[in-house]
Amino acid sequence: MTRKYEKLLVLDIDNTVFDWVSYYVACLNELFSKVEDITGVPVAQQALESKKVFEEQGSIEYPFLIQELPSIAAHYQGDIDRMLSEAVEPGRLAFKDMAQKHLTAYDGVLETFKTIKDRWPHFPIIALTDAPRYVAMWKLNKLGILHYFDALYGLSDPRIPTDPESKKVKVAPEILYKHLQQSAFDFKGIVRTLPEDYEKPGTRGLKTVLMDHDMEGHFDHVLWVGDNLRKDVGLGRSLGVRTAWARYGTQIEPEIKDALLQFSPELNVHKNVSLDPKSDASPEPDVILDSFSELVAAIDKLI
Ligand SMILES: [Mg+2]
Repeated sequence: MTRKYEKLLVLDIDNTVFDWVSYYVACLNELFSKVEDITGVPVAQQALESKKVFEEQGSIEYPFLIQELPSIAAHYQGDIDRMLSEAVEPGRLAFKDMAQKHLTAYDGVLETFKTIKDRWPHFPIIALTDAPRYVAMWKLNKLGILHYFDALYGLSDPRIPTDPESKKVKVAPEILYKHLQQSAFDFKGIVRTLPEDYEKPGTRGLKTVLMDHDMEGHFDHVLWVGDNLRKDVGLGRSLGVRTAWARYGTQIEPEIKDALLQFSPELNVHKNVSLDPKSDASPEPDVILDSFSELVAAIDKLI
């Protein structure tokens, strides 16, 4: 019996194809500074209040952050339209401007995707991430690599914030429309939104990928790549697929890590980044990558 695909490559996104930590710290701090200029609410206060919002939303990449900060709500005293136009929109643009500079793939990523597609044209490349589906697509699109993926699996889209009293939606209509679009960015591949409890290191997300691609029973032809030893490598090991550890993604400057901790609940950080050093108890990957381009040799050797 022949199966549909001979091999399968499944990639984590954050800190595997680009430096998520540097990008997010730079963009969020730019956003906070902009909002401080407008409202006078200090960056440190916004950062502190953000921890709680991120925790409640189950994602550090919650895109409707500013309108949910108590100090900002207090500043605008229920005038939602004014808050959206005066603070939220300029903040969003400040974030986006910074993203333009920082959303760049690691060295060799684009060339490596091209090489893989040339050498193995029929072998699907899948993105599996704990980031919300829309946010993941937005990032891959800006990185210029979305079209290399045949499918994307992310977690549920962010909750749309509403004012508890007036029930008014606290998002500008054009932004809301973008977020609700299912087939965004002209992506031709499959998009699947997984339930929150499919989050890594749970095995259900990766299992869904394997089932969708008819790879069950052929796990030795699947390579799963991620930067987080405990979550990504651990998950791959427990399912029995081949695993590559993107060690290069764990090299984070201490000051950037500190800046990240200013606004992120500790627990949540682990969703996106591996802050733990390797220990004896860490799961063993089949291969360690010191650059994304080493992936070609790993595919050759392992699957
Ligand atoms: Mg990662």
